[in-house]
Amino acid sequence: MDIVKKVVILGGGTAGWLAASLLKKVIGSVIDIELVESDEIGIVGVGEATIPPIRLVNQVLGISEADFLRETNATIKLAIKFENWKQQGESYFHTFGAPGRSLAFCNFHHLWQKARQAGDTTSLWAYDLNYLCATAGKFAPIQSKDHILELPYAYHFDAALYARYLRKFSEGLGVVRTEGRVANVTRHYNGHVKSLLLTDGREVAGDFFIDCSGFSSLLLQQHLQTGYDDWSHLLPCDRAVAVPSERFAQTLPYTRSIAHSAGWQWRIPLQHRNGNGLVFSSAHYSEQQAMDLLMQNLESPALGEPRVIRFKTGRARKQWHRNVVAIGLSSGFLEPLESTSIHLIQSGIVRLLQLFPHRGIDEAKVAEYNKQSELEFRQIRDFLIFHYHVNQRDDSQFWRDMQEIEIPDSLAHKIAIFAADGTLVRENNDLFQDSSWLQVMMGQGIMPKDYHPIADNFSYQQLREMLAGIRAIKEEPLSKLPSHDDFIQRAIRQVS
Ligand SMILES: Cc1cc2nc3c(=O)[nH]c(=O)nc-3n(C[C@H](O)[C@H](O)[C@H](O)COP(=O)(O)OP(=O)(O)OC[C@H]3O[C@@H](n4cnc5c(N)ncnc54)[C@H](O)[C@@H]3O)c2cc1C
Repeated sequence: MDIVKKVVILGGGTAGWLAASLLKKVIGSVIDIELVESDEIGIVGVGEATIPPIRLVNQVLGISEADFLRETNATIKLAIKFENWKQQGESYFHTFGAPGRSLAFCNFHHLWQKARQAGDTTSLWAYDLNYLCATAGKFAPIQSKDHILELPYAYHFDAALYARYLRKFSEGLGVVRTEGRVANVTRHYNGHVKSLLLTDGREVAGDFFIDCSGFSSLLLQQHLQTGYDDWSHLLPCDRAVAVPSERFAQTLPYTRSIAHSAGWQWRIPLQHRNGNGLVFSSAHYSEQQAMDLLMQNLESPALGEPRVIRFKTGRARKQWHRNVVAIGLSSGFLEPLESTSIHLIQSGIVRLLQLFPHRGIDEAKVAEYNKQSELEFRQIRDFLIFHYHVNQRDDSQFWRDMQEIEIPDSLAHKIAIFAADGTLVRENNDLFQDSSWLQVMMGQGIMPKDYHPIADNFSYQQLREMLAGIRAIKEEPLSKLPSHDDFIQRAIRQVS
C-alpha cells in the first residue's frame, strides 16, 4: 500500500477550509495539503448557527475567542426558540443546558413531574440556566465548580467571514491554495482518483482526496457515483430562501425557528446583521410564495435580494469510497433545523483523523468510517423528524401530513417509552443527549403519564423545597452577568 503523503481538498467553503485547518494542525508534519477552489463558483454562503462542540475546534486550532468573535462578526448562541411548532401562538426553547439537578439514576424531570402532578405550575425551563440567560439577553462564561451552573454555548457567525478566517489560518500553517475550476479527474487502474484536471489545463495530483465541493459532490457522486439515500419522504422540505436584514437594536443570544404553514423561518442575530431564511416544501409553496412570505416576516429592512437554494435531504450511501472522502454538503444534507451541518463537517474530519489512511487505503477503516457516519446522520435525521411529526397543528395540509408520516421504528420506540413514564433512551453516541430530547418532547406536547418511582422517595413538601433551592441556585448568577451585547463589545475590544 502507498503512503498517503499528499492530500488534495476540492472546495473552499466551511467544509474545505475546516478540513484543511484541522488536518494541517493535527497531522501537518506528515502530510502536504493543497486546496482547490473556484471563486467563480463561490460558496453556498449560509450556515450561521452552530452547536457547542464548535468550541472544541477553536481550542484544537488554538484560536482565541476574542479573535474569533471579532473576525467572524459572531454572537453567542445558548438555545433555539421554536415558535408555532406545536401549535400556532405557542413556543418553547431547546437550550444547550439541562433543567435542574438530576439524582443518581433519576433525571430531574421526574421530580419536576411529580411536583407538577401535585399541583406545582412552575415551567421546566425555569430551572434551566441557559433559558434564563437567553430570555434575559445576558451572557458571560460562568466559572463554577457546581456543574449545575454550567452554561454551554455555541456561536452564530457570518459563514463567508468564517471561511475567509479559516483560509487565512490554514495558509498560515502552510496549506497551498489553488484557484481554478475542476473540469475532470484522472484515475488509476484500480479506480482511485489520481488527479484533478482544471479548465485551464493544470493538473493537481494527490494520494488522497477530500471532496468538499458542496451540493455538486463532484468527486463522490458525479465521478465515483456511490449513490444517495433520499430521505425526502421523511423530511419533505427541499428548498430554502435566504436573505440578510438589518440587525435589531439588541441581539439576543439564541436562534429563532418560526414555523409557517409549510416550513419554517430562521432568524440568526449577528453583530452586523440578521441572517434570515425560510426552509420550505416546494410541493406546498412556489419559490415566489416562499420569497414573499420571508420578506413579509423579516421585522427589519432586507439587505439584498432573497436567493433560493435547492436541496435533497439524505446522504451519500458511502461517504468514503476508494481514496475519496466527502465532507460537508457533498456528503449529504439534513436541513438546518438543529444547526447540525457544520457539526457534521467537524465530526467527519475528526473521524477521518482517527481513521487516517496513512499507510494507504484499508477497506476495514473505510467501512468503519461509513458505518459511523451512517449512524450519525440517521440519529440526527430522527431528531429532526420528531419536531415535525409530533405537532398539534391542523391549520394546513403540510402539518397534518407530517402527523401521518410513517416514522422510523427507532423513533417510534423512543417516543413510546418517553410518553409512558418519561424514560429517555439514548442510542450509542447520539449527538442529542437526554436534555435535548426532553425539551423537544415536552415542547412538542408529549407529557409523560407517569414518573420514575425514585421521585416517591420524597414527599411533596420535600420536593417543593428541593426545587425551590435548585431554582434559587440557577437564578443567582443572573444579576451579575452583563447583557449579551455588552459581553460581545467587551470581547471584541480585547487584544488577542
Ligand atoms: C439553507 C441552508 C441553511 C443552512 N444553515 C446552517 C446552519 O445554520 N448551521 C449549520 O451548521 N449549517 C447550515 N447549513 C449548512 C452549511 O451551509 C454547510 O454545511 C457549510 O456551508 C459547508 O458547505 P460546504 O463547504 O460543504 O459547501 P460550499 O460552501 O458550497 O463550498 C463548496 C466549494 O467547492 C467549490 N467547488 C465546487 N465545484 C468546484 C469545481 N468544479 N472546481 C473548483 N471548485 C469547486 C466551490 O467554489 C466552493 O469553494 C445550511 C445549509 C443550507 C443550504
